[in-house]
Amino acid sequence: MKKLMISAAMAGISAVALAGLYGDTPNALHAWAVHDMNRPNPAKVTPADKPGQPPSDAIVLFDGTQKSFEENWVDGKGNKTKWKFVDGTMESVRSAGNICSRREFGDVQLHVEWQAPVKVQGYGQGRGNSGVFVLGGMYEVQVLDSYETNPADMKNPNYADGQAGAVYGQNPPLVNPTRKPGEWQAYDIVFHQPVFEGNKCVHPGSLTVFLNGVLVQDHWEVEGPTWHMRRTRQEKPRSTKGSIQFQDHGNPVHFRNVWVREIPSRWANTTHGTYLANEKDVAAQRRATAEKLFAKIDKSKCDAQQVHQILEVMSYCGEEPFLGAAKNICGGYLRKLESWKGSELDGRKNEIRSIRGAYDTLNRNGIAKDCPLNAKVRETCKAKGWR
Ligand code: MG
Repeated sequence: MKKLMISAAMAGISAVALAGLYGDTPNALHAWAVHDMNRPNPAKVTPADKPGQPPSDAIVLFDGTQKSFEENWVDGKGNKTKWKFVDGTMESVRSAGNICSRREFGDVQLHVEWQAPVKVQGYGQGRGNSGVFVLGGMYEVQVLDSYETNPADMKNPNYADGQAGAVYGQNPPLVNPTRKPGEWQAYDIVFHQPVFEGNKCVHPGSLTVFLNGVLVQDHWEVEGPTWHMRRTRQEKPRSTKGSIQFQDHGNPVHFRNVWVREIPSRWANTTHGTYLANEKDVAAQRRATAEKLFAKIDKSKCDAQQVHQILEVMSYCGEEPFLGAAKNICGGYLRKLESWKGSELDGRKNEIRSIRGAYDTLNRNGIAKDCPLNAKVRETCKAKGWR
């Protein structure tokens, strides 16, 4: 358990107040301390009972009911689709065109299950061909009966960048984990759209794909829209949101259990460190946290509680008005400490040690080294033999 928080509890001080004074402090690239108790907790999501089923925050697009089929799916023009609802599945119909989700999405986690026809017909790209498109049809993860395929096998010749699990025309799947035709297959796809500044692509979009639980696309950075035959290049999407689509490629492929979770752009994470950190955003977040914590301090008092709280504020931001308040509160506590003698001083052993612990964290990170109270608590602990 956390040493500092235990000392704080022994000193009768709220552990919550010390939350930011345990791990290394925020810095230019990190808005939060290591193990920061002030850092917002993620939203609670209830997972499904069974793998593959939607968690509590999923948007279910097709749950096997005619209602979800009719409500959530349309053709490319927003009209009623000519795809068929068959035995709790959605079946592709030749010449019906792609089926499109009525709702539009940007970055998503997408789960969909598909089934190539039991009756094997055709070969290569003509065998159980469909596709899963994101962002209104820009990027296709191929759906194909490529259970038995080998470019060298003239019985079913195929190209690698068009197999099931391929980002079509760009990147073959890492391996081929497809099941036999007629068996249900599961895609779990994480899609991030490209980020443009004006007409310049500053971050390519990416696709991570699991096929039947096996990683087949490992954060593939898309080179542009997926095309047949043509080399692609980055294109600015018409919109930051678009439909999920399944392809009509003339083969009766079935789909079921379709759900998505909208996810944040990975490039929006600018305050949590790593190479994505933006120093301006980090500084703003640190100041906002400092202000929030500062508002909770009773500045009229100069006891250990307020010392801990203002030191915690200083760990986020050492600017005014925090610096001035720190001087007042720590200076006030210093004068009291200098006046305590004998049993009164001994009775405050844990309190004083806990303040030294707070300074340890700050000093380790280059903060408050020259604070007079810092020197005094060290001197006191040393003189008294308090470890
Ligand atoms: Mg296709």
